[in-house]
Amino acid sequence: MNTPLTDARARCRDLADPDRMFGDTLQQRRARHICAPCPIKRACLAEALQRPVETGLWGGMTARERRALRRHNPQVRDWFTYLVQAQAALQQ
Ligand code: SF4
Repeated sequence: MNTPLTDARARCRDLADPDRMFGDTLQQRRARHICAPCPIKRACLAEALQRPVETGLWGGMTARERRALRRHNPQVRDWFTYLVQAQAALQQ
């Protein structure tokens, strides 16, 4: 399985300054525009939530935002499915 770090479609893959994705929370928020149109955004976020990854901007969410999401949803075991279902619910 490709990960955001190995997937050729990742928009952050060829950044001149990849540290932009791993700065403090403000720097991560400023880099969100890189993730917004990324074709693997949901998979990236799910992976960061699933592992979990405690640093950097993944799938458009800062590390702080991901911690809060996990804390508010301790029952979730499969983050990819959760994100798919959440998006479907929003579209109804
Ligand atoms: S969603 Fe953001 S962090 Fe994830 S692969 Fe795409 S550009 Fe990189």
